[in-house]
Amino acid sequence: MNTLTDDLLSLVMDVKLTSCSVCPWQWEEVSGYDENMNTIRTYQVCNVFDNNQNNWVRTKYISRRGAQRIHVEMKFSVRDCSSIPSVPGSCKETFNLYYYETDSDTANKLSPAWMENPWIKVDTIAADESFSQVDLGVRVMKINTEVRSFGPVSRQGFYLAFQDYGGCMSLIAVRIFYRKCPRVVLNGAVFPETLSGAESTSLVAARGVCVPNGEEVDVPIKLYCNGDGEWMVPIGRCMCKAGHEAVENGTVCRACGSGFFKSSQGDHLCLQCPINSRTTNEGATNCVCRSGYYRSDSDPPQIPCTTIPSAPQSVISIVNETSLRLEWRAPRDGGGREDVVYNIICKSCGGGRGGCSRCGDNVQFIPRQLGLTETSVHISDLLAHTQYTFEIQAVNGVSDQSPYSPHFSSVNITTNQAGKGDSNSFTLLSKYYVPVSRTPDSITLSWSQPDQPNGLILDYELQYFDKSMAEWNSSVVRSQTNTAVIRGLKPGAIYVFQVRARTVAGFGRFSGKMYFQTMTEEEYKSSFQEKLPLIIGSAAAGVVFIIAVVVLVIVCNRRSSERTESEYTDKVQHYTSGHRMKIYIDPFTYEDPNEAVREFAKEIDTSCVKIEQVIGAGEFGEVCSGNLRLPGKREILVAIKTLKAGYTERQRRDFLSEASIMGQFDHPNIIHLEGVVTKSAPVMIITEFMENGSLDSFLRQNDGQFTVIQLVGMLRGIAAGMKYLNDMNYVHRDLAARNILVNSNLVCKVSDFGLSRFLEEDTSDPTYTSALGGKIPIRWTAPEAIQYRKFTSSSDGWSYGIVMWEVMSYGERPYWDMSNQDVINAIEQDYRLPPPMDCPSALHQLMLDCWQKDRNNRPKFSQIVNNLDKMIRNPNSLKAMTPLSSSVHLPLLDRSTPDFSSFSTVDEWLDAIRMGQYKENFANEEFTSFDVVSQMTTEDILRVGVTLAGHQKKMLNSVQSMRPGLPVRL
Ligand code: AMP
Repeated sequence: MNTLTDDLLSLVMDVKLTSCSVCPWQWEEVSGYDENMNTIRTYQVCNVFDNNQNNWVRTKYISRRGAQRIHVEMKFSVRDCSSIPSVPGSCKETFNLYYYETDSDTANKLSPAWMENPWIKVDTIAADESFSQVDLGVRVMKINTEVRSFGPVSRQGFYLAFQDYGGCMSLIAVRIFYRKCPRVVLNGAVFPETLSGAESTSLVAARGVCVPNGEEVDVPIKLYCNGDGEWMVPIGRCMCKAGHEAVENGTVCRACGSGFFKSSQGDHLCLQCPINSRTTNEGATNCVCRSGYYRSDSDPPQIPCTTIPSAPQSVISIVNETSLRLEWRAPRDGGGREDVVYNIICKSCGGGRGGCSRCGDNVQFIPRQLGLTETSVHISDLLAHTQYTFEIQAVNGVSDQSPYSPHFSSVNITTNQAGKGDSNSFTLLSKYYVPVSRTPDSITLSWSQPDQPNGLILDYELQYFDKSMAEWNSSVVRSQTNTAVIRGLKPGAIYVFQVRARTVAGFGRFSGKMYFQTMTEEEYKSSFQEKLPLIIGSAAAGVVFIIAVVVLVIVCNRRSSERTESEYTDKVQHYTSGHRMKIYIDPFTYEDPNEAVREFAKEIDTSCVKIEQVIGAGEFGEVCSGNLRLPGKREILVAIKTLKAGYTERQRRDFLSEASIMGQFDHPNIIHLEGVVTKSAPVMIITEFMENGSLDSFLRQNDGQFTVIQLVGMLRGIAAGMKYLNDMNYVHRDLAARNILVNSNLVCKVSDFGLSRFLEEDTSDPTYTSALGGKIPIRWTAPEAIQYRKFTSSSDGWSYGIVMWEVMSYGERPYWDMSNQDVINAIEQDYRLPPPMDCPSALHQLMLDCWQKDRNNRPKFSQIVNNLDKMIRNPNSLKAMTPLSSSVHLPLLDRSTPDFSSFSTVDEWLDAIRMGQYKENFANEEFTSFDVVSQMTTEDILRVGVTLAGHQKKMLNSVQSMRPGLPVRL
């Protein structure tokens, strides 16, 4: 490191010093020789024989120039006292150095005084070598050099003084200077010239400034200047920024030249642009790709720009019935990259309109459809006899940057028939495989359609054999529907069944094996004896009896009906080698109902459930909406029924019984149970979320807003759900629009499987009227169920007719404001509800069929579903609005078009027809009296702001019926 000093003054002794005016002797200016016999001028003093010497000499005023510490270098010679003959003891071989600070040159002969105070003593200076000889009469001096320093100094300047107090010496030269660290470029930064500190140990910090286009790395860059004028302790550093490189020993950051780049700050040099890229200006931080070439987000700037791959080569397709294997070779040009993968685009062609359309989600790709790293794929679950085009796209890391679609090779194939073992043909069959009834020599079975039939199902083939015989002995029956009666069976024998479907493409795969037992003769005989619903002496029934009479009745009924129609003992259920038969099991038949919960409802960890908001009030606590995220599954919206705190053990059991019932069902029109939380508080039942809530309020909110087909679609869904429950031997007993939930796709699902609302003690809900043995929703319930508790799927059928009426009247209350007793009496006298406004007569006819007095004459749910399906397929059948065809049912007064005379104000009338929301509109347009209202036209109704077609129609009907001369419709 350079040490730089700056002289403040160099005094060679022909520069005049000022001698003391009051001193006994003076320093004399004389000539002499140095050691080399050069002639020099010196200041001398030598009065060793006189006592009390005090001889001062001082320099001229010396400007400080910012220095804080001053160094003084003195050259002098001292005569050795002992070499002087007869010298007194007072002879000295030292002198003193002083300084005096002042802001201006104000000194004169007397001031500053020639004494220690006001001067400040720097040091007593002694010679290293003194001299003694006098050669040839000429003094030859030994010259000493001593340096002293002092500080801090702060005034503008100062004087130095030399005091002799009895020695013999010469002052030959004095140099006065300070130290400084020079301007330096170090570690990529420029540091300014910096003067040393006040003490010899001081370190003066200096901030560096990065050279142009350099940037500090991490910490501020610093150096310290020490007392000797040396830089030390470098901290931090600067580096050339992106686009610039360090040259000239790191003192300059120079811009990268054309065709070179530097992408980041650092010491490294600019790099040449990689292939397929170039720079657009000097100082480039990266090189831009040439047209048609790209860099992916993860590509570093020093690798070449790449392009999209060419198409895969040599595609081979191997069709095997409805499966296909595609193989190909890698593209000729991978675009310069190693990350080529393949996507398969599947289009099915010739599907009716001649064009090609993307295949549906059901087509399976193994290992996957997109991002294939290998050059083959297995595709299955294609439709039979269908033409497909497969495009095999080659893509790589820059394909998504290219404005062009990926290059692909395509192949056209046509599938042939679906063969045995084809997975799409009939996999789900066993899930809904339900025995309908049994006798000693026959079993009636039904099953649901496969989820994805491979074309139109022509018929089903049912294969069966006696379990005690060999399988090759099997028989076959064909059925065009999904039900078959198998006759000629042995009593009390177990048979093994399998079913498969046939489409134009041939047979699909057989379902899993199911085992059913025919009735024994004894069972059959006893099944004819109608049993009264009395206590049966099982331990389970005993437990139930304590709970409530009505529950006991359900259990007993169910037990007797199980015996008569379809009895499945546990033995047979477990005899199905893993395929549990779908038959409803009453949770109250379990000695410990918690066992039923464990069996039928999945336990969910409460941490998977996030409650969002309260959406309703259930019987046992709040109903909330929220989210459910099961491990490894995506989050879904759910409804959460909670059991309020402070519940009794019995309330907990009743609450959870709904889950153990619901958990046994699996049907698109039955509310789906996700699971229960029983191991932590609050206890919860978690079901799928139904965005539109319960059907009755949903319809009321959307009065007149749906087409007849939409309403029939909802009814169809409810009927399908009820058919399923009926097939499961489950009697709902409380089918009503309030117990149907509606999702965002208008899919209706049967819900509310709780039993407790029927219990006598619960008096909160007026819909459920106390009757002998429990509470009954009178308006929805079949007469035989009201009178003698005969709850069957036929009584559910009656309730279904009421639900139809609720739906077609957009949530009107059945029998309006009639009392329950009036309703019972009217039904007894064969009065029935009239068709709601705009209700197609076919639908009203179906309602009337459901309300047949003799329950055996009511349609089964399967017939209702078929009937509604026919109407949906043939919408013309819904156009007829003719009067009632069946004269055996006397219609009740039609309340959907009420008589004006019963209202005193227009507002009352609007309320009665459930159009109260328009009261203000009528008032604003001054339709405030019946005189004007009865004259209203369609335009008037529109003018008051009734824009919904359904509402217009409702008002117009009502208005027309009140015009004088028109009879009130009966
Ligand atoms: P419940 O106790 O079943 O009668 O439920 C009370 C109310 O909560 C119903 O009337 C609905 O409005 C609402 N609710 C019940 N379950 C659901 C669900 N799964 N999705 C949406 N809302 C529901």
